[in-house]
Amino acid sequence: MHGLMMDTPLLITGIMQFTDANFGQREIVSVTADNPLHRYTYADAFRRARRAANVLKRLDVQRGDRLGTLAWNDYRHFELYYAISCYGAVCHTVNPRLFGEQIEYIINHAEDQYVFTDVAFVALLEQMQDQLETVKGFVVLTDAEHMPQTKLRNAMCYEDLLAEESDRYDWPDLDERTASALCYTSGTTGKPKGVLFSHRATVLHAYGEAMPDVFDLSVMDCVLPVVPMFHVNAWGTPYAAPMVGAKLVLPGPKMGDGQVLHELMESEGVSISLGVPTVWLGLLAYLDESGQTLSSVKRIVIGGAACPASVVEKFRDLHQVYVHQAWGMTEMTPLGTFNTLKPGMADLPQDQLIAIQTKQGRGVYGVEMKITDDDHHDLPWDGKAFGGLKVRGPWVCSGYFGSEEARIDADGWFDTGDVATIDPEGFMLITDRTKDVIKSGGEWISSITLENSAVDHPQVAEAAVIGVAHPKWGERPLLIVVRQPGADVDKSEMLSWFDGKIAKWWIPDDVVFVDELPHTATGKIRKVDLREQFQDYVLPGS
Ligand code: ADP
Repeated sequence: MHGLMMDTPLLITGIMQFTDANFGQREIVSVTADNPLHRYTYADAFRRARRAANVLKRLDVQRGDRLGTLAWNDYRHFELYYAISCYGAVCHTVNPRLFGEQIEYIINHAEDQYVFTDVAFVALLEQMQDQLETVKGFVVLTDAEHMPQTKLRNAMCYEDLLAEESDRYDWPDLDERTASALCYTSGTTGKPKGVLFSHRATVLHAYGEAMPDVFDLSVMDCVLPVVPMFHVNAWGTPYAAPMVGAKLVLPGPKMGDGQVLHELMESEGVSISLGVPTVWLGLLAYLDESGQTLSSVKRIVIGGAACPASVVEKFRDLHQVYVHQAWGMTEMTPLGTFNTLKPGMADLPQDQLIAIQTKQGRGVYGVEMKITDDDHHDLPWDGKAFGGLKVRGPWVCSGYFGSEEARIDADGWFDTGDVATIDPEGFMLITDRTKDVIKSGGEWISSITLENSAVDHPQVAEAAVIGVAHPKWGERPLLIVVRQPGADVDKSEMLSWFDGKIAKWWIPDDVVFVDELPHTATGKIRKVDLREQFQDYVLPGS
């Protein structure tokens, strides 16, 4: 027997309409190329989204069409998120930091019909437009005054297009499984793969994200996502923040600028901010140099890569900010786990507390997790056994765009490619990527644990650990270090740093000092390149 409740579809349109009715006057503040502090309300944003939907109609965009965006986090990109998805088309956010060839591949693979671009990326698109055969035209996200001279075919000015349209538009009734957005994972190996989000997954993810033991979002909050809107929808904040009526602050092209971030945080009263570790290392360095502190930020969410203990401690001790680690991936919209304490944990001795806080966190309702061995047998949640991490749930992808291949096993589990332990309290700790794990004498060594420990050394700016061939053990760890400016830490000092911190047999066999490490477009260390560079490296004593 079915229940007698309404089958109301879970649509992004619903978030928009609810926010408009309840929080229409809450603000969105953005840094843009043509305005350092643009300010308007959710009601303004959705009014312009309706105009943008009329533009799509005029351009004869069809349901299901993919429309590309190459844009930073600002209000125009926010409007397009809603206009495109609620129109029934797919908002394909393209990462402009990728190599040109990858951008071409992604736009062609998605068969984008139009591309909406910031002025900053016009030159880039001009170079590749002949290769972008499906693209009928380019809309430049600016006004007439700032519209560049461009050779882009069928180039249009966004503000001119909006000005010609009515702000009345009847949003269509969509099936909740309708595709809403498309995001390609940058992929450290192989071709980028498209993750196709749905309205339903996006709405459920926003609910999950806003919960008290997750982002704990409310109408009282002011949210600053320092994670790009072209990277897994800025971790879902453009949906979760309006859903609860939180004010939204968007840093535009100034993501990596410590001074601008600090000014925005102070002047707008930011209470929660999110980003990858590199962003926070940059902000801490700025605060340190300038002697500034944070007065309104209460919590910072760090994800995308492991968060060193020193970052948690500095924010806590110098700025009274609580750091939450989060883990997820593009294929998971992206949220998987979030680190909030359980009762009694806050009273634990500092070393035990920090050991918990630097784990990736507990599962969020909506995502099931398990770890398995090489034969796919479940491993215990004892905090010791580590194995392949698998996930399942309504905001986890089941396959990639344009590929027939199912990416889930017979029981519906998606293999994350991460290796992890889970403790009896449900806290998950990523120990590696499957492809990065170091196998020494048949036992696994976690490269991430070694890297985190190395980065905690005060003279280390960045560190990577890779496995290098060893005649006896198969593989042994090699530590590659970028020193802090002016630092002179040497090999023996570096190796003795690990004494007492990790098992003796995990201590790297050698240390190499370099000026910089190779990074992916999303700021992660490119271990593939390092493995190639050091493939013939001979470890001492081997
Ligand atoms: P890409 O960088 O390829 O665009 P994602 O952002 O989807 O892709 O990356 C997801 C991966 O990032 C995860 O599978 C995991 O390896 C890593 N990751 C994400 N969050 C964390 C974290 N808190 N700690 C360690 N690794 C993380």
